[in-house]
Amino acid sequence: MARTCCHPWLRLRTLSLMQILEALRSSVIVKKSPVTGEVLGDFPITSREDVEAAVARARKASLAWKQTTLQERLRTLMRINDVLRAHRDSFARRISEDTGKPLVDAIMTELLPVTAFLEHYEKRAPQLLTRKKLPSSILFPGKSTYQEHFPMGVIAIISPWNFPFQLAVVPAISALIAGNTVVIKPSEVTPITGEIIREVFDRIGLPKGVVEVIQGDGSTGAALSESAVDKIFFTGSVATGRKVMAAAAKRPIPVELELGGKDAMIVCEDANLERAARAAVWGGFVNCGQMCTSVERVFVEEKIHDRFVDMVIRETKRMRVGGPDESAEMGPMTFPRQIDTVEAHIKDAVAKGAKVLFGGKRIDRPGQFHEPTVLTNITVEMDIYREETFGPVLPIVKVRNVEEAIRMANDHQYGLNGSVWTKDIKRGLELASRLECGQATVNDVVTSVGNPHLPFGGVKNSGFGRYHGDEGILGFTHTKAIMVDRGLMKSEPFWFPYEGKYDVLRDAFDGLASGNLPKALWGFVGMLRKSR
Ligand code: NAD
Repeated sequence: MARTCCHPWLRLRTLSLMQILEALRSSVIVKKSPVTGEVLGDFPITSREDVEAAVARARKASLAWKQTTLQERLRTLMRINDVLRAHRDSFARRISEDTGKPLVDAIMTELLPVTAFLEHYEKRAPQLLTRKKLPSSILFPGKSTYQEHFPMGVIAIISPWNFPFQLAVVPAISALIAGNTVVIKPSEVTPITGEIIREVFDRIGLPKGVVEVIQGDGSTGAALSESAVDKIFFTGSVATGRKVMAAAAKRPIPVELELGGKDAMIVCEDANLERAARAAVWGGFVNCGQMCTSVERVFVEEKIHDRFVDMVIRETKRMRVGGPDESAEMGPMTFPRQIDTVEAHIKDAVAKGAKVLFGGKRIDRPGQFHEPTVLTNITVEMDIYREETFGPVLPIVKVRNVEEAIRMANDHQYGLNGSVWTKDIKRGLELASRLECGQATVNDVVTSVGNPHLPFGGVKNSGFGRYHGDEGILGFTHTKAIMVDRGLMKSEPFWFPYEGKYDVLRDAFDGLASGNLPKALWGFVGMLRKSR
């Protein structure tokens, strides 16, 4: 049997030089620039023991944090806005460096949502977290009923690399406002942003342990999922989501899964085609298409198909592609492996008959750049139709009519967002209602995810649970029901003794079941008479 030492340094002494180098390499994340390919630094991978220690600190801190008033918590958390304002440009630059996204996107899609949600919850949380009086029932005369919410304890937040700042910070502030402490595991693909997250929470003066940030890879995420947390809020791929859910099932604790998408955009004959074409291009290529809510399938009625495609090509040609310093609209892909998926999907599509009308290949320069790509002649057998591409590709599908588009949009493994394009708003709303997804827009695309009033989440393989909106706070609480006897009734109809109650209870039951309220009431009065 192999001998194991408890301390990693002791274990290293028993290894060869090669093994030591390998061990050191595997305990850090080496971060490379998506723009130039240069090494930007390395970041430690948090071990299982250190994950458990972080969770223990968060558990200890939760005892005091949950006792703070909501106003105290909001006062502390609102300081995040001051920190973001003071460091806006350097944070935006570092997030761009980490992800490759344009500076405009770094502020618009990473910092701005955090501020918008803080502002929203500062006003909304007091209403959500206050005890509410509920109506009572004729079964319970003399009693008052209430509903309130209490924090769950310690929340694990495991986040992806595509919006590495906001997809960790928005759930974190939601959970903190609700009175929980949090342990955040940022993506190993974007560790520079992981450090920014740590800095932001350090700077607002939270008590020790209220927010723990643990950098690391899948092994760190797995250790966190298996640790003594009270809920896991996971954003990432379906494959990892399954593992997280399996880990959560062992204890069992609640889990929320925000997974992938293959969002449909349905363009009806009567749509404003200019606007729809611009939306398809922005919705398909913003953040280099690395969005769970990217437009990944465009269904266009055949009468307008060719005109719409011409407009899309014209708009795509106008885009500026490059690094953040080149004031680009689309940067490189963030994750090296994702560009392989994009290439494989395009290759498969072309082999099965798709036409590349624009782009189609990697850009010949250092870093992870790929051309914005427009494909037509798409069929359901293609990977580009069936799987999430998560890259700068816009597949356009010609359909006979809107009914066919709705059927195809819904006949899919994913159901995150969708959009419908028509000048007839009433019809647009009806079609939006028929889309099987968690969020839908009419004559708009993607941005609804940033509206703090709207709940966000998916159906089918896109996951379950909702955050943002009211659910964004309430999802990090347990609901408690409270009933109070005000001492107004002299006797208890349901308690012992039972003698002589059967017949009157039967009347009460029949009355209630048949909607005959006077009969039900009379029966309950009979119960009261036979009680003490
Ligand atoms: P991923 O599943 O590879 O990784 C997500 C996170 O899980 C990372 O922090 C990773 O380290 C961690 N992880 C890996 N293995 C783990 C394990 N065994 N246990 C626990 N954690 C583990 O996903 P990704 O590539 O970072 O993100 C891209 C995916 O995220 C896409 O599918 C995209 O659609 C999805 N996404 C969804 C939303 C949404 O809100 N629905 C938002 C953004 C991204």
